Amino acid sequence: MDAKEFRQRGKEMVDYVADYIEGIEGRQVYPDVEPGYLRPLIPNTAPQEPETFEAIIKDVERIIMPGVTHWHSPYFFAYFPTASSYPAMLADMLCGAIGCIGFSWAASPACTELETVMMDWLGKMLQLPEAFLAGKAGGGGGVIQGSASEATLVALLAARTKAVRHLQATSPGLTQAMIMEKLVAYASDQAHSSVERAGLIGGVKLKAIPSDGKFVMRASALQEALERDKAEGLIPFFVVATLGTTSCCSFDNLLEVGPICHQESLWLHIDAAYAGSAFICPEFRPLLNGVEFADSFNFNPHKWLLVNFDCSAMWVKKRTDLTGAFKMDPTYLQHSHQDSGLITDYRHWQLPLGRRFRSLKMWFVFRLYGVKGLQAYIRKGSNKLNEALLEKINSARKIHLVPCHLRDQFVLRFAICSRTVESDHVRFAWEHIQGLATELLRA
Ligand SMILES: *Cc1c(COP(=O)(O)O)cnc(C)c1O
Repeated sequence: MDAKEFRQRGKEMVDYVADYIEGIEGRQVYPDVEPGYLRPLIPNTAPQEPETFEAIIKDVERIIMPGVTHWHSPYFFAYFPTASSYPAMLADMLCGAIGCIGFSWAASPACTELETVMMDWLGKMLQLPEAFLAGKAGGGGGVIQGSASEATLVALLAARTKAVRHLQATSPGLTQAMIMEKLVAYASDQAHSSVERAGLIGGVKLKAIPSDGKFVMRASALQEALERDKAEGLIPFFVVATLGTTSCCSFDNLLEVGPICHQESLWLHIDAAYAGSAFICPEFRPLLNGVEFADSFNFNPHKWLLVNFDCSAMWVKKRTDLTGAFKMDPTYLQHSHQDSGLITDYRHWQLPLGRRFRSLKMWFVFRLYGVKGLQAYIRKGSNKLNEALLEKINSARKIHLVPCHLRDQFVLRFAICSRTVESDHVRFAWEHIQGLATELLRA
């Protein structure tokens, strides 16, 4: 394919994508296929001779689409949201075109510098404590990881290295193996499976702290586990707090857990993978209070902030904790402006060497939506909409409601009033309200 054909095919592909997104509601959200459906539909080996682009596109509809679960269908309510927006798709296209591998500053200065600045922009949107921002020459800073799983693993490995080095410095004679055997990490029993997996990969014990009746990790349960383990000669070193657990979106009590981690010198990592995007709205920001106790904090703009996968935002207070743990400097990767202030070599902050120019997606999305647009996306509805819904409900005369104000929120109150009300009446009312709300949103 030459540039001339690329211009044509590129435009066709953009049309195909726009048609796909516009028509996605008409596609069945979950496919009918059985495991192994695809192999009989395509040849056993790659073609010897080149094929045409038309042939491939035809097969996308014939072979691929029937086996796609449409995550961006409005009927998709499984797992968790995954972000998508046209600006992010366009930025991804540019990322593919530039095709740099930004492992060091010198390997593509814009790739590194835009990432550092975008992570500061995003950190400021969340009102993260200054210590997490890179600023001009701060100790902290942000990095884009591929996934929350990687962020947790990177944090655990860095914490492990820090703990091992500290113990070896204070008790010479201890070998790494002797220390590793005793290290213990902690997370709530509601934490995501990737946390347990990080413990498995990192070769350390990971203990589940029983959450309370509201699925929240509290001080007392953590303290109890720490005391018990220390009494047995184990060495606690790492705690993961989850803000927005996968099963029920519970929030571990950071204001209780944070100070304990601080006192006991445990690395506190916060996993806010899907709920974290909400913190850009001031009314949700209090849920992040206590982040100042954390050593590392992570959430996924690729879940709920309109940046297509993959884009997992991770901040640390001390960049040297990461670079100290993962640094390798073979001659062929060295350059004359190594790690200082804004000049960052992100290869020391992550597991792989290679990395894409992912910050372009953030830059496009943040600029084309603006912070206000992003906040409106998270809120997905205004007081005005709620007022209009109430008006619609009451003028239809089938059910009757009155509103209230809770601080600045216009709220529809649904009170169960009559002695003769049955669950069928409530169900009818709910369906009626849903119907009217759908009409309103479509209008
Ligand atoms: C989705 C999710 C993860 C895993 O995210 P990846 O980016 O796919 O690794 C981890 N923790 C929580 C709380 C999640 O919701």
